[in-house]
Amino acid sequence: MQQVNIFWFRRDLRFNDNCGLFNALNSGLPVVPVFLFDKMILTQFPAPDDARLTFIHQTVSEMKRKLNQTGRDLMVFFATPEEAFARLIQQFPVHAVYANTDYEPQAIARDRKIGELLQQKGIGLHLFKDQVIFHHNEIVKSDGNPYTVFTPYSKAWKNKLAQNPIRHYDSEGLLTRILPMAPTRLPALDEIGYKPMKVTFPKQTVDPELLRNYQQTRDFPALNGTSKLSIHLRFGTISIRRLTVQALQHSETFLNELIWRNFYMDILWHFPQVEHNAFKPAYDKIEWRNNEAEFVRWCNGETGFPLVDAGMRELNQTGYMHNRVRMVVASFLTKHLLIDWRWGEAYFAQKLHDFDLAANNGGWQWASGSGCDAAPYFRVFNPDLQTQKFDPDLKYICRWVPEFGSFSYPRPLVDHAFARNRALEVYKKGLNDSL
Ligand SMILES: Cc1cc2nc3c(=O)[nH]c(=O)nc-3n(C[C@H](O)[C@H](O)[C@H](O)COP(=O)(O)OP(=O)(O)OC[C@H]3O[C@@H](n4cnc5c(N)ncnc54)[C@H](O)[C@@H]3O)c2cc1C
Repeated sequence: MQQVNIFWFRRDLRFNDNCGLFNALNSGLPVVPVFLFDKMILTQFPAPDDARLTFIHQTVSEMKRKLNQTGRDLMVFFATPEEAFARLIQQFPVHAVYANTDYEPQAIARDRKIGELLQQKGIGLHLFKDQVIFHHNEIVKSDGNPYTVFTPYSKAWKNKLAQNPIRHYDSEGLLTRILPMAPTRLPALDEIGYKPMKVTFPKQTVDPELLRNYQQTRDFPALNGTSKLSIHLRFGTISIRRLTVQALQHSETFLNELIWRNFYMDILWHFPQVEHNAFKPAYDKIEWRNNEAEFVRWCNGETGFPLVDAGMRELNQTGYMHNRVRMVVASFLTKHLLIDWRWGEAYFAQKLHDFDLAANNGGWQWASGSGCDAAPYFRVFNPDLQTQKFDPDLKYICRWVPEFGSFSYPRPLVDHAFARNRALEVYKKGLNDSL
């Protein structure tokens, strides 16, 4: 039997402009594409109504259907990577496994382990850069150390891009190099523990007009002023290279947001400890109040601060929240309520369809003040002023908090001026104590 190479889809669920897939298809051997509903990852997402699984299932099923039409297949497993590869190696004479690099600490550990297991059988694991424009040590300071401040990082990023124009990979044009085979079974969602959810996910494209207006509209949550592409960037259903080319054509401000995404991925890669600890260690000395009843009110959007409540209800009902409002609710939780940013981060991780460890952790540490290049600790967003600036007609608030202004709307959980002073005292004490 002829040897094959495997292509392992992970956060890159697309055929077009896929670097690892392109390299696999150019390897000279027929390719067997696989996707795993990884049992280890899924234990972290226990809610049966998690719509992200519907998104993945729909995407994978569509990819499978496309290959089946030409007598090929995408093999889908519900298994741990060890189990899936053991089965694949039994079925095929595997020469090598190809995939795109994933930068999260758990994924790095998984790939190291699987790489070793494969190595013992003489099978190589080849990883490619696909999720970001630059990775590892491509954007570092002249002394080789990573940047921890965004502005110089973004300058270096743009300079590097000017010297290394973006290359695209015509993986889609090479799909006939996939091994012809009969369709295998796709596990149904309920077999892997999830309910199919009726959700309309954001579309995969962005209107150039929206990008041209992005700078003016992006901060107003009532407007349709941002791309809503985050879920697609998260699961790789669009190519970051193609989107970056669009950004270069239409909007520097939008390009900067894509660079923030790259920045936080680099931070997580260089400083994996941020997954559990404050980037600035002194901030782990802050004595959080961690009042559980107040946390529940925050989660449910019942704080009596309408912009905070609108954001949390948008999140609970749609799996999405506008960026401006993410900043406001995160500041409110960590500063007004003095609840550990890790609680909010974990809640977002369960609810956000675009949840991404690097961006979520970066966003939370930014809001709590503990992150690299974070908001200074004494900057406490005033939710009312934020409303006046960014939702002056209360359109966003009224959309998500219909009872706003009536007797049934809760009274504020805390007085703003009181909470602000309390936050400043507690932060100051924690930070001074640790010096
Ligand atoms: C507390 C907090 C938590 C967050 N959690 C996540 C998360 O889990 N996943 C996530 O993708 N983003 C997260 N963000 C960043 C940002 O809010 C979302 O990327 C954005 O709201 C998604 O909407 P959009 O696609 O319309 O964004 P657009 O404004 O259209 O931006 C385009 C893309 O740029 C990237 N991007 C934009 N802003 C940021 C940013 N500040 N940091 C990193 N990448 C950015 C995203 O990939 C986004 O899709 C978080 C921000 C905060 C303050």
